[in-house]
Amino acid sequence: MDIPADTAPAFDLVTYFFDKASRQLNLSDDIHELLRRPWRELTVSVPVRMDSGKVHSFTGFRVQYNAARGPYKGGVRYHPNADMDEVRALAALMTWKTAVVDIPYGGAKGGVQCVPGEMSVGERNRMTRRYTTSIAHLLGPNRDVPAPDLGTDSQTMAWMMDAYGSLYGHTPACVTGKPIELGGSVGRAEAPGRGAVYVLEEVLRHAERPPKGTTIAVQGFGQVGSWIARTAADLGMTVVAVSDVRGGVYNPRGLDVAALVRHNAEAGTVAGFAGAEKVSSAEILELGCDVLAPAAVEKVLHEKNADRVRAKIVLEGANHPVTPRADAIMAERGVTCVPDILCNAGGVIVSYFEWAQNIQAFRWDESRVNSELRRTILGGYATVQARAAGEGVTLRDAAFDVAVERVAKAVQLRGFV
Ligand code: GLU
Repeated sequence: MDIPADTAPAFDLVTYFFDKASRQLNLSDDIHELLRRPWRELTVSVPVRMDSGKVHSFTGFRVQYNAARGPYKGGVRYHPNADMDEVRALAALMTWKTAVVDIPYGGAKGGVQCVPGEMSVGERNRMTRRYTTSIAHLLGPNRDVPAPDLGTDSQTMAWMMDAYGSLYGHTPACVTGKPIELGGSVGRAEAPGRGAVYVLEEVLRHAERPPKGTTIAVQGFGQVGSWIARTAADLGMTVVAVSDVRGGVYNPRGLDVAALVRHNAEAGTVAGFAGAEKVSSAEILELGCDVLAPAAVEKVLHEKNADRVRAKIVLEGANHPVTPRADAIMAERGVTCVPDILCNAGGVIVSYFEWAQNIQAFRWDESRVNSELRRTILGGYATVQARAAGEGVTLRDAAFDVAVERVAKAVQLRGFV
């Protein structure tokens, strides 16, 4: 099978790993075709009256990739690169993600092409409401349940819930990642980072390495990266570098993560943090450290820099941060990639707990959320690790094998083909 070039459409890059799994599992042509394309795609125009008085029409998408295992589930991204190709790729990844950690959902993704940082709160509120009402007929607790992603947050989910509720009545389970005051779950914000570090602890245990003193560099200090850094530091790991879109900081002896969080809250960036050297977001990927966590955007490890990664473990906090060519280069060099669909599944796992709490009109405390998160994500890791060891394949190939097999089984049982 030819490995697609890094410049291929995002959907082709993601689908390469699906095709590989499909071949490994010997899927029938009928099932292969059914799983290889999205089940439904919607493009909407989102006109918003901007503060200037002018109307700007944004383009929004919702791709519902597959719902064989349960309602469609996945975030909504506000980003200039959130075009149909990117959203489709992310919707496919959500399908494999929910399957690999065995939570009862399919996969979807949404997006609006915009630059949220350049919009006022009012503009983002109006855009979110308009986008939600345009796709509302596809949504619902048993149909499709959005959540935050890049450029969106709990406030965005509050607006979505409100817009959906004005059409269909108050329905907290229609979105997850809401503010706690509106039915969000405790521990949801921390979950993607926490889940990734729970998996890292297990990977280190298999490698017979203690977490204490393990060095880690984190690219991205947002909803995923900041919690990877904080959780890793809490476990005694040494966070040597972090970066965000405005710059990065490096200290080989370790950064004071609590102080860095305070600096970031005040300055709006990690850049300029005292007691550390300046480092660029690209340089972070090549630093000498034990673990590298790309936790920002897609395709940061590619054909041109994969051979310069010095970390032995790559913890994929972001969605598809590693291209297929980079994946092959790193596998050859013995770098262990903890694949995105497993590594960052903590977010959607606690989304599942939030949805379940909303449906039951009941609340869990944080220790219950965290212990169920640990049990669920480590259950996924144990299955993937055993498969990788048994078949002599990488964690990514094993994760896709497990996920695709589960979705194929669900399709078969439903009697589609
Ligand atoms: N946007 C997150 C992801 O990519 C969370 C999705 C969810 O909670 O539904 O996994």
